[in-house]
Amino acid sequence: SRAQRIDPDDPNAKHFKDVAGLKEEKEELEEIVDFLADPAKYTERGARIPKGIILVGPPGTGKTLLAKAVAGEAGVPFFSLSGSDFVEMFVGVGASRVRDMFAEAKKNAPCIVFIDEIDAVARKRGTGLGGGHDEREQTLNQMLVEMDGFGVNEGIIVMAATNRVDILDPAILRPGRFDRRVAVGRPDVRGREEILEVHSKGKPLSDDVDLEKVARTTVGFTGADLENLMNESAIACAREGRPCITQADIDKSFIKVGIGTEKKSKIISEKD
Ligand code: ATP
Repeated sequence: SRAQRIDPDDPNAKHFKDVAGLKEEKEELEEIVDFLADPAKYTERGARIPKGIILVGPPGTGKTLLAKAVAGEAGVPFFSLSGSDFVEMFVGVGASRVRDMFAEAKKNAPCIVFIDEIDAVARKRGTGLGGGHDEREQTLNQMLVEMDGFGVNEGIIVMAATNRVDILDPAILRPGRFDRRVAVGRPDVRGREEILEVHSKGKPLSDDVDLEKVARTTVGFTGADLENLMNESAIACAREGRPCITQADIDKSFIKVGIGTEKKSKIISEKD
């Protein structure tokens, strides 16, 4: 699959208002938005803006959403590729996709380039299983060549996401590459309530629905889990032809959506 592109006028473009909770994460990215919206403001003052930002956090916590929102907020195009797309590709194809994407990005700067699941490509050498090494290394090398090749303040900000920063090749974290890190965590109770509110928009809720209570009982849920919970609740309600989602619909979906054992063990160590 080729790079995905979302322009600011696209209906799929995202904004910070679509990203609930994650207040500190959004604050950390404000200056990137400001830079993309007006690079001259920074270059005229001799400021050096980071080229690469790595978003680190569990799956479904909104890393992709945040990257899209930075582009949407700045009013610039968003280009993305996923590291997992390169797995089992013919040698050379990944590298050429990376080259093509950066060529497009340069033509469209200022813009955001996003690489999801960067660990699939930028894993420490020798940690993979069996074949595909040549391909992965070529893709990774091309990524590094591209990042080293454009100047600071050229108007391209590369964002990448991973849930396994520990397995990354240290070469990608060097100064001038992905030298800034933003941790994206699971939402706390307040964050969960805000996420539930975002994903209740356009869904008729009955008076008995208490989102604050739902937030309290969904410890360990990510944004993706909460979106799924509200969607399952809407489906359950629609299936029975009732006009509004009830608290009982949500409670039943809670059981259906469930949470994996991997998550459950983590939840025990969480405070809220
Ligand atoms: P992955 O690592 O699996 O790619 P991710 O961290 O990139 O996950 P997203 O793909 O951004 O997560 O999130 C999936 C979906 O979950 C989003 O499209 C959105 O519907 C919902 N979601 C996640 N976090 C939030 C949030 N903070 N506010 C609102 N919705 C959220």
